[in-house]
Amino acid sequence: MGMMTAKEYVESLRKMKTVVYLFGERVENFVDHPIIRPSVNSVAMTYALAQNPEYEELMTAVSNLTGKRINRFCHLHQNTEDLVKKIKMQRLLGQKTGACFQRCVGMDAFNAVYSTTFDIDQKYGTGYHQRFRKYMEYIQENDYTVDGAMTDPKGNRGLSPSRQKDPDLYLHIVEKRKDGIIVTGAKAHQTGAVNSHEQLIMPTVAMKEEDKAYAVAFAVPSDVPGITMIYGRQSCDTRKLEEPGCMDCGNCRFGGQEALVVFDRVFVPWERVFLCEEYEFAGVLVERFAGYHRQSYGGCKVGVGDVLIGAAATAADYNGVAKASHIKDKLIEMVHLNETLYCCGLACSSEGKKTAAGNYQIDTLLANVCKQNVTRFPYEIARLAEDIAGGLMVTMPSEKDFASPEVGELCRKYFKGDDNVDVMDRMRILRLIENLTLGTAAVGYRTESMHGAGSPQAQRIMIGRQGGIEDKKILAKNLAGINSNKK
Ligand code: SF4
Ligand code: FE
Repeated sequence: MGMMTAKEYVESLRKMKTVVYLFGERVENFVDHPIIRPSVNSVAMTYALAQNPEYEELMTAVSNLTGKRINRFCHLHQNTEDLVKKIKMQRLLGQKTGACFQRCVGMDAFNAVYSTTFDIDQKYGTGYHQRFRKYMEYIQENDYTVDGAMTDPKGNRGLSPSRQKDPDLYLHIVEKRKDGIIVTGAKAHQTGAVNSHEQLIMPTVAMKEEDKAYAVAFAVPSDVPGITMIYGRQSCDTRKLEEPGCMDCGNCRFGGQEALVVFDRVFVPWERVFLCEEYEFAGVLVERFAGYHRQSYGGCKVGVGDVLIGAAATAADYNGVAKASHIKDKLIEMVHLNETLYCCGLACSSEGKKTAAGNYQIDTLLANVCKQNVTRFPYEIARLAEDIAGGLMVTMPSEKDFASPEVGELCRKYFKGDDNVDVMDRMRILRLIENLTLGTAAVGYRTESMHGAGSPQAQRIMIGRQGGIEDKKILAKNLAGINSNKK
C-alpha cells in the first residue's frame, strides 16, 4: 500500500472497531468526537508532512527491511544521522501541532524491540527477531500508527508484579496454548492508544524469575476482541464541546490523548509474540525503550516550546511591552532553556551506537540527562510565559461574552491592549498560552514532561549508574599527584 495520506489515515481509523469509553459511555465514532478529534488531527499531521516534498528528508526514510521509502515514524534507525533526523522531525511536528502527536511511542518501541529480540535469540536460539522483522514489514507496508505500550497500572509500587494482591495490575500471560498466548491486565496512560491501528506491548520493569508470566511483549490490532480503552480527561477538555472552533479552546485543531487500555483474556498468535517469559530481558527492553523516548522529548517538547515562546512574544507585542528590557530578557531565557533541551536531544543522537541487531541506539547517559532537563525546563518556560502574558490569561471572559449584544462592547473596550491590535487577536493568543500551560495541551507540555518516559528519579538512577564517578576520581587524583591505586 505505501505511505498513507492524512485523509487515508483518518479514513482507516473509521474502519476500526476499537472499543472506546468516554464520560462513562461507549463512543461509536471516536474519529469525529469533538474531544478526541484534535488528537486524531495531530497524528494525521505525521502523515500530511510526509507527503510534503519540503519535509521529505526529515519525514521519510528508506527501509532497511524492504528498500522502500517509508514514513520515518515506522523506521528502524540505521545511523546517527537517522537519530538526529528523528529529533528534528519531532521538533517540526511540535511546532505544527502545539501538542503531543503521539506516534513516537510506536517508533521508539519498534527500535527497542528490534534490538532486544535479536539479543534474546542470540542467547536462547528463539525466533523472535525474524518474527518481529516480518511484523515491521507489515507495519511499514501499511504505514500504521502503533501505540508502544509499556506502563502497567502497577498497584502497590513497593511490590513486584507477582506479589500484587490483584495479579492483573501488571499485564501477564494467563494461558499458553499451541497457537498462541492469552493475556490479561492493562496498560495505563497510553499516549495515542485510541488513534493507533496496533498496540505493541512491552513489560514495564526489570523482572525476576517469579515474575516471568509478566515478561511478555507482543502486538495486536487495537480492535481485537477483549481490549477496552477508557479515555483520559484533560484540563478544560469540555471546552471542545462548545462551538466548533471555539476560541476558548486555545488550540481547537490539535491535541494529545492518553487512555487506559484494558486486556481481558486477549488472544495473541505466536507469530505476534516477541518475548515470552525470558524475564532477564524485560529490564533490557525497558531501558532501551525509555532511552529512545527520553531522547524523543529533546525534539517534541522543544517544538511545543517554540510555539509557547512565540505566543509569549506575541502577547508582549499586543500588550505594548515588547521593548521592555525585562520582557526581552525573559524571552531570551525561554529560548536558552528550550535550545538547551534541543542540544541534549541532538547530543544523545549524535553519540548513538550500533546495536548487535544493526539498528542504532542513542547514548543512554545523555538521553537521561536530556529527559531530566525536560522534567524542569518546560515548567520554567511555562512560568515565564505566564509572567509575560499577565493575569488576563485566566480572568478573561468567554468568546460568547465578546460577541454578546449586551456586554460585548464592554469586553472589547476594556480588554484592549495596543490600539493597533484587534482585541480578539489579543484574546486568542492568551487562550493559546492558557491551553499550553493550564489547558488540554498542558498534559503534554507539563505533566508528561515530568512523568512521561519515566519520572525524574528513574533518570537519576540511570545517571548515577552511568555517570562514571569512579573514572572521574582517577582523573582528579592523577592531576593532584595522588597514586590512584592507593585508597
Ligand atoms: Fe511523541 Fe512527545 Fe508525544 Fe512522546 S510526548 S508521543 S515523544 S510527541
Ligand atoms: Fe510520552
